[in-house]
Parts: sequence; structure tokens; C-alpha cells
Amino acid sequence: MKLSPPAFIKENLSLAPHCFYNIGGTMRWALFPRSLEEIQEGYQWIQKKGVPFLILGGGTNVLVSDKGYDGAVLFTGGLDYSTPLGCNRFKVGAGTILASLVTQVLLPNNYTGTGALTGIPGSVGGALFMNAGTVNGTICQFTESVQLLSASGLTQWQMSSDDYCYRGQRFCTTNTVILEGVFSFTVDEKDQLAVYEHYLKRRKETQPQGRCCGSVFKNPEGDHAGRLIELCGLKGTRRGGAVISEKHANFIVNQDNASFDDVYGLICLAKEEVLKRFGIELKEEVRIIHG
Ligand SMILES: Cc1cc2nc3c(=O)[nH]c(=O)nc-3n(C[C@H](O)[C@H](O)[C@H](O)COP(=O)(O)OP(=O)(O)OC[C@H]3O[C@@H](n4cnc5c(N)ncnc54)[C@H](O)[C@@H]3O)c2cc1C
Repeated sequence: MKLSPPAFIKENLSLAPHCFYNIGGTMRWALFPRSLEEIQEGYQWIQKKGVPFLILGGGTNVLVSDKGYDGAVLFTGGLDYSTPLGCNRFKVGAGTILASLVTQVLLPNNYTGTGALTGIPGSVGGALFMNAGTVNGTICQFTESVQLLSASGLTQWQMSSDDYCYRGQRFCTTNTVILEGVFSFTVDEKDQLAVYEHYLKRRKETQPQGRCCGSVFKNPEGDHAGRLIELCGLKGTRRGGAVISEKHANFIVNQDNASFDDVYGLICLAKEEVLKRFGIELKEEVRIIHG
């Protein structure tokens, strides 16, 4: 039986414009649902079709193969809302841009969390999946619960501090969609606008501009991946159009039409050199989709 796709499904689109790296071949199906109902319809369609699928928010932490993705890519951008629930609690859709949560919810209310979440691109759903954050904290710390969609339907997960760790969590597997989060904030005594401006300025000073995924590797316990890569003398190393940033060695930038292999080659090189010199196995923070 041929299963005809709903109207929000497009075929054979390039993934590159949807990824911050601007790298990635053709995706067989691209799903752009505009509501919870459409996400559920799209999810059922994928399940019935039995094809592999990938969920993308802002695409700021993925490196996708030039060969593309022979499956369905579900985009969460349609789940863009933020509803006040009272008592400093907010229900926020997974597709909401994290930066707008900071500027439209945290800053006007002077909530704690600005230092943890300022300057991180991408969506709220992607941030929850990655437990994104900084030395000042991570998004899951401010999360009361998340709504999930999986093969067994809709569920609500009550967050506890055991459910997340440094750039990781245990409430969402790769085939589960985070639909929304309920966040609880507290009013801070420090001026959060000053905190916001401080961290934006700091990022400009210490991180390269341009197409990248932020930190390529997680920091090994008690050390910094960037420091180790720099000590291997790899700053400025190029492969095709990709370069290990001179400004911050844990950033690999697509400077000039880099391919997947260019960036991936530098990732492998950095891992090999750090292992050889320090005996430390770096672990990728970026999600690599080999296609
Ligand atoms: C310049 C720059 C600076 C950065 N700085 C930081 C930083 O300071 N701290 C930090 O933690 N990260 C940082 N990052 C990395 C990245 O921005 C974060 O990991 C971000 O939270 C990813 O969100 P996204 O929506 O872009 O996720 P995507 O890249 O779209 O996806 C990332 C992963 O999450 C999954 N995913 C996305 N949405 C959902 C969903 N709704 N349900 C289930 N799974 C989902 C995807 O399948 C994928 O595995 C930086 C990136 C850049 C480019």
C-alpha cells in the first residue's frame, strides 16, 4: 500500500540550509509540522513507513554527511510558544528559539539562568536534549517537566537532578521527540541584563564567528578539550574549507564551503593527536550523522 504524505512533508530537500554548519546532503523526507497535532500525525506517518528518522531543532549541534539522510527529518520549529503559568513558571514549546527564552522571559523578569543560557543558539528542545549550558548551569536545572512523544504516545516526564548530566540526559532517547518543557525560575538579586551583556561580550572575545557547532568535544573531567588540542599545535590546521579555529581550538569552522569529510577529518585528527600525546580520549559533543 502506498502511504501518501501529509501536506507538511516535502521530499528531497537539502539539509545544509537547516544546519548551522551549512553542510549536509539531501534528506529524503522533510517534515515541517506546525502544531502538536501535525507532529503526532507526522510521527505516525514515519512509524507506519518504517523509515529511519532524525529530529532537528536549530541544527546548531549537528554535522550531517554530504551523502544526505535517507529517511525522515522532523523539524520542531512549528512548536514555538511560551505560556506563563503563574508563580514564575512557563510552558515553552520545543521549537522556541532558546535566545528568545532568554530575552523575552528571563531578562524582563530578572530571572536566574541568564548566565547559564546566554549566547547558546538553537531551540529549547535541542537544548533539553543536549542539556545545554555553561559553567553557570544548564537548562535542565530550570526544568520541572517535559512532554515527550514516542512510539507509546504522549508522556510527561517529571525532571529530577538524576535525569541529566554534563551535556547529556536520560529522559529522551533518539527516537523520542521533546515537545515542550515546563520551566520554573527564580528572581535574581543581580541585574541580569548586565550578566547577559557580560557573557555576550565574552563570547565575542573568546569564540570565533562563523559556521560551526560551538564546542566540538566535551571537556574531559578536570580539563578543557580546547587546551589539549591547542597543546598539540593544531590551532589553524586546515582540511579543505574547514579550519581548527585560531581563537579557540575546540571550535572547527566551515570557512570556505567545507565538506563533511573536511570537518570530520579535523575531528578525527584532533582525537588522534590528543590520545597520542595525553592518553585522553576526547568525546564528541557535536552529533555526527553519517547518513
Ligand atoms: C556558536 C555556537 C555556540 C554554542 N555554545 C554552546 C554553549 O555555550 N553551550 C552548549 O551547551 N552548547 C552550545 N552550542 C551547541 C548547540 O547550540 C546546543 O547544543 C543547542 O542546545 C542545540 O540546539 P538545536 O536546537 O540547534 O539542536 P540540534 O542541533 O537541532 O539537535 C541537537 C541534538 O538534539 C536532538 N534534538 C533537537 N531537538 C529535539 C527535540 N525537540 N526532541 C528530541 N531531540 C531533539 C537532535 O536529534 C540532535 O541529536 C553552541 C553552538 C554554536 C553554533
